[in-house]
Amino acid sequence: MKAAKKNIRHLTQEDIAIELENLGEPNFRAKQVWQWIWQKNANGFEDMTNLAKPLREKLAANFIFYKMKTATQQISTDGTIKAGFRLYDGELVEGVLIPQEDRMTACISSQVGCSLTCSFCATAKLDRKRNLHFDEIYDQVAIINHEAEKKYNKHLTNIVFMGMGEPLLNYPNVIKAIERITAEDGLGIAPKRITVSTAGIAKMIKKLGDDKVKFNLALSLHAANDQKRSKIMPINDTNSLEILKEALIYFHSKTQTRITFEYVMLGGFNDTPEDAKELAQFARAVPCKINLIEYNPIEGGIYIKSSGNTMHRFKAYLEGAKLIVNLRRSRGEDIDAACGQLAGKDVRRVVSSEPK
Ligand code: SAH
Repeated sequence: MKAAKKNIRHLTQEDIAIELENLGEPNFRAKQVWQWIWQKNANGFEDMTNLAKPLREKLAANFIFYKMKTATQQISTDGTIKAGFRLYDGELVEGVLIPQEDRMTACISSQVGCSLTCSFCATAKLDRKRNLHFDEIYDQVAIINHEAEKKYNKHLTNIVFMGMGEPLLNYPNVIKAIERITAEDGLGIAPKRITVSTAGIAKMIKKLGDDKVKFNLALSLHAANDQKRSKIMPINDTNSLEILKEALIYFHSKTQTRITFEYVMLGGFNDTPEDAKELAQFARAVPCKINLIEYNPIEGGIYIKSSGNTMHRFKAYLEGAKLIVNLRRSRGEDIDAACGQLAGKDVRRVVSSEPK
């Protein structure tokens, strides 16, 4: 039986060189193929125009070349663009481009669906179908970068893993994708411009420390009280605040990187003066900054946004406790592109109306 074709994008440059040699081609071609895959964003072998046609055909006959495709796109009144990406197996994930005056941010997904069940998040209503492969994570960034250049004439400046899925439950692919995103022979984006956001998997936070990663870490805290946190984030039952605190201290000791705490403000639930006090207390554990996030209502959700006044008072209390605090306004809400709203809703609709 003939061996299954290999996916050329999953091979290292050295692997490609060996494969080319086996096909009777000089191995310096490997560099050209590699550049087409990771720098020139080829969509297939036919794009590799500095390779002779017979070689392109030979490659196509011997390897698989998968690249995700943009299936849908929506543009918000605030300029935010949400894209639905179709994967090789028909699954869909979403990514978002958020244009701001001083930066261009891509918000990307790490899994198809999510296995966690945070009660305020739309993605949590989907099952976790599978992990994204590293090239699928990379492709989101490359495609969104291309879109930023096309629509806004600017490159991406920042990347946040705040789309669908829990990045630390897909650790190897996230790390490998970041390696390609930051590599000189990849997208060349500085690790300090990348933020991985986690619901709080203590063991993996420690692993990030052991691996001495150079990118930023954000923890979705949302409550600094175990009872409240467990109520909205069941992952807290096994990764309690005390356990997370210890992991964060460890991470910081290994990386010297300041941690970001995300805190989505749920009206009447986690926005009281007592909550602010508990948050200030918890945040003293490590050098950090706090992002207070406006809650984006989700379909069937039971929470409401905190009022503007409450958010300002909450912020003032934390600042009084000498903490660095930012208020994060919602973006792309009208197209369900805001944090926690990625559920593939519109994508499904558009896909089902496609001609067969
Ligand atoms: N699983 C990771 C990354 C995805 S969520 C994590 O939990 O961090 C990205 C951020 O959006 C998290 O801070 C998450 O708590 C927040 N979020 C989820 N639903 C939201 C909603 N409805 N409104 C505002 N922020 C939300």
